[in-house]
Amino acid sequence: MGNNKYKILVIEDEDNIASFIRTNLEINNYQVICAGTCEMGLRMFSSHHPDLVVLDLGLPDRDGLEFIQEIRKSEAIPIIVLSARTSENEKVFALDLGANDYITKPFGTEELLARIRAVLRSNRHCSELGSIPGGRFQLKDMVIDYDKRQVTIKGNEIDLTQTEYNIVAYLSEHAGKVLTYASIIQAIWGYSDYGSTKKLQVNMKNIRKKMGVTPGERRYIINELGVGYRMMEE
Ligand code: CA
Repeated sequence: MGNNKYKILVIEDEDNIASFIRTNLEINNYQVICAGTCEMGLRMFSSHHPDLVVLDLGLPDRDGLEFIQEIRKSEAIPIIVLSARTSENEKVFALDLGANDYITKPFGTEELLARIRAVLRSNRHCSELGSIPGGRFQLKDMVIDYDKRQVTIKGNEIDLTQTEYNIVAYLSEHAGKVLTYASIIQAIWGYSDYGSTKKLQVNMKNIRKKMGVTPGERRYIINELGVGYRMMEE
């Protein structure tokens, strides 16, 4: 038994947080291995081949960001970063270095499990949903038909511009995952210049308005302040 369990490497120097994560993941049928330093994490990564890494950024020997850089030279294994509430720049930096998502401390079991499930799932799908013929995405009463390039809510078509549609489709292909401003801009426009973030924000404001979402409301697309946007998932 245990062979088909996902193996998760937790790199965290605070014992109480590490054991909180271990206990909750083991209850939920994950296999867990723990490391308290970056060096130990790198060693365990190469010897145990985990399916996913939960990484604290504030480690005693080296910055967790260095772990991401090191791993991303050769491995696409999903990494979820644990970060302090106030460090928006750190989160953006970690995501742009190749982390798949982040969790803000302090966090609860449900959030931890939801992030892990989402990251493992999107890693399996390889984000090719939009390129499959007949592909559809559904989130509550919203449906995206990728062939028709059409978004409907309660069966009514939402009149989006090409750019607005591209943004919605891109976010949906990574549903559950936060995408940084820079990564969305790169995917939609292919380049970024001064004012790109503003351009993205204006498009997003129009998208939300057309979808009937009021400012500040967490529906369909969540604005992760200072970091980027996240399409919710069912
Ligand atoms: Ca720490």
